[in-house]
Amino acid sequence: MNNNKKILITEFIDQNSLENLYKKFDVRYDEKLYEKKKEILQIIKDCDGLIVRNKTQVNSDILKNASNLKFIGRLGVGLDNIDTEYCKNKDIYVQPATGMNADSVAEYVVSSSMSLIKKIPIFHNGTIKGEWPRTKIKSREINQKFLGLIGFGTIGKKVADYCSKNGLKILAYDPYVKEINNKKINIKLLSLNEIYEKSDIISIHLPLTDETKNMINKSSFYLMKNKPIIINTSRGGIINENDLIEAYNKNIISGFALDVFENEPIKSDFYNKIKSGMNCILTPHISGVTTESNIRVSDFIVKKITDFFN
Ligand code: NAD
Repeated sequence: MNNNKKILITEFIDQNSLENLYKKFDVRYDEKLYEKKKEILQIIKDCDGLIVRNKTQVNSDILKNASNLKFIGRLGVGLDNIDTEYCKNKDIYVQPATGMNADSVAEYVVSSSMSLIKKIPIFHNGTIKGEWPRTKIKSREINQKFLGLIGFGTIGKKVADYCSKNGLKILAYDPYVKEINNKKINIKLLSLNEIYEKSDIISIHLPLTDETKNMINKSSFYLMKNKPIIINTSRGGIINENDLIEAYNKNIISGFALDVFENEPIKSDFYNKIKSGMNCILTPHISGVTTESNIRVSDFIVKKITDFFN
């Protein structure tokens, strides 16, 4: 250790990165600490740095106790679990791992698009029941279909890149992006309603904010003309989950992949509505987490916190 700064890590981090941190700082690490708020409230008192994923709620209760805190590293992107306004006022620097898990999310969007348009979950379900549903179900290809991206930031751009290489035509909605200068891919910037009307697949890449909460709801689904597939890897709560299931049951959409949910872990009142034989994929907030992305994200934050305190 060449530095007496105290760093608290409350969720899992790559082992090599952790060992690097131990060499540089006085580190306290417990990957389950996010579940023990009382302990965090005590330990945070003399910490200079804090490293979290998305489970630790870094709210004013914790921050009020953190009088030495100068740096928060987020092992991922999406800062909705951190009171960034409070941090700004108290001069606490917040560092997300921007772009470090974008490839992993993009692969998830490509693979779930292909699976769902091909109706793999339905074929799988019928086959394991001995039904051999070879001709009963009609599937399609993604080639030349329209992918509508809602949110065209770091991940939206990466998804456009991966998906265009697999033959999808890219549409995007992002009111904060005025023009797209991409010489390799033809990407059309459209209104939100046009995205709903034209897309065969819709993928959400937004932060969770007051503006985006419940943004995709019953009225949005009724504007969808092509029975699209819906993919959400951004944050639960942006899509209204009950309205999504209703839209699927009414055949307004033809499938969905959800990696993020309003309540995580999901509760029975939601998962009881998911029936075997539905064209859907549900995953436990893992689209950004692979062995490779975990290394990138952890390395990046360790480098940033080291630079910050040097
Ligand atoms: P980003 O900040 O680079 O991009 C977000 C984009 O959304 C921006 O271009 C912004 O202009 C746009 N936006 C903001 N408000 C909008 C609105 N009301 N309507 C339309 N567009 C709006 O973020 P990113 O790196 O692309 O990540 C997007 C989100 O994905 C993150 O906030 C995070 O919540 C989520 N995420 C999830 C996982 C996972 O494992 N499931 C992994 C990484 C990121």
